[in-house]
Amino acid sequence: MTELTDLQFDQQHLWHPYTSMTEPLPTFKVKKAYGAIIELEDGHQLIDGMSSWWCAIHGYNHPELNQAVADQLQKMSHIMFGGFTHDPAIQLGKLLLQITPPSLDKIFYADSGSVAVEVALKMAVQYWAARGQNNKTNFVTPRSGYHGDTWNAMSVCDPVTGMHQIFGSSLPHRMFVPAPQTAFGEEWNPDDLVELEQTLATHHHTIAALILEPIVQGAGGMRFYHLEYLRQAKLLCEKYKVLLIFDEIATGFGRTGKLFAWEWAEVEPDIMCIGKGLTGGYMTLSATLTTTQIAETISQGEAGVFMHGPTFMANPLACAVALKSTQLLLSQDWQANIQRIERQLQTALAPLSALTHVQDVRILGAIGVVELKLNVDMKSLQQEFVRRGIWVRPFGKLVYVMPPYVISEPELKTLLGQLVEVVENMEQAA
Ligand code: PMP
Repeated sequence: MTELTDLQFDQQHLWHPYTSMTEPLPTFKVKKAYGAIIELEDGHQLIDGMSSWWCAIHGYNHPELNQAVADQLQKMSHIMFGGFTHDPAIQLGKLLLQITPPSLDKIFYADSGSVAVEVALKMAVQYWAARGQNNKTNFVTPRSGYHGDTWNAMSVCDPVTGMHQIFGSSLPHRMFVPAPQTAFGEEWNPDDLVELEQTLATHHHTIAALILEPIVQGAGGMRFYHLEYLRQAKLLCEKYKVLLIFDEIATGFGRTGKLFAWEWAEVEPDIMCIGKGLTGGYMTLSATLTTTQIAETISQGEAGVFMHGPTFMANPLACAVALKSTQLLLSQDWQANIQRIERQLQTALAPLSALTHVQDVRILGAIGVVELKLNVDMKSLQQEFVRRGIWVRPFGKLVYVMPPYVISEPELKTLLGQLVEVVENMEQAA
């Protein structure tokens, strides 16, 4: 039997995200990555437009982040968080409390964004149970949301574009309200909240929390919505005694132009999830933050404890690199840098909105989205991008970029120039 090449082995044995094992999409073997450059095995270089799905905010192979990992490695890579604590967890915690909403005071470290969401949902249910309201176990959420791939996270993803159809009745049944309709920066339309108010008015006694992604709905459609939605949603949550959970896993660490997206509206949630950019994309770590009042209520409930404790909770390597990554971000004029990226995105992408096959172009912070009228052929488009030396991974009707913040002006110019040509050529093909 002839031996498989590495790529054949990969195709035949390794599952990739959201792919088939019988007709997998092609994969490209990466040799190394540095700054905003991804280098393939054959030496072909790609300018990164994805930050490895929002997380590699400082690019790849950053000397200071490498050093933080190396230093921590000399001490310990992992130690159980049950019964032990350590400097990386403590120092990171101190820093996170300085940069997240002032009312949030207690931190639960978890190991991925999805788990942070599970933790947030569990906190909400345990909070109400501790207050003797055992019926408040359900959740309400706007459509077009995305919160992860684990069971309960999936249950609050958009019921059409998410995974509801496949998992059917095995998923808990949540309450969905229309996605916010008024776009970011447009004139506010109060009708956006009508169904949310109705749902809360009718079902508040069974609803533990409203969960949403503030300002930017990411994987559920890359939609940017009006900050007034958050303000009004907060008031409704207070009125109907429902907790408010912000999923800032994608929006956190500067991506939208604010350090966290809640700052656009100055609305503080009761519970907030962060992840992705937390470690600068070095390894997986997330955190769920909440208020003293919620934490104390949970702790004084019947269980007396919060019922979650992952093996890799507060992994020291991950905490050490998260601390360094966050310090690095804060030590720079990151806002000016995001504005630079935003201006370049605007200049290059905005003209695409004139094309007949383009539905919409939207830019916020270091996120640029081109929404087409028809679904793209991901396989051929991906190959074309790679051939042209850029890394952009479209999905559905969306061709979008969220580059690492270290991307230089010429790199971003090339990335966007190639992307624009590909989108323009689609028109010729249509
Ligand atoms: N919430 C949001 C808003 C996300 O964008 C994601 C990841 N795309 C998640 C949760 C899930 O995070 P993870 O993939 O780390 O589980």
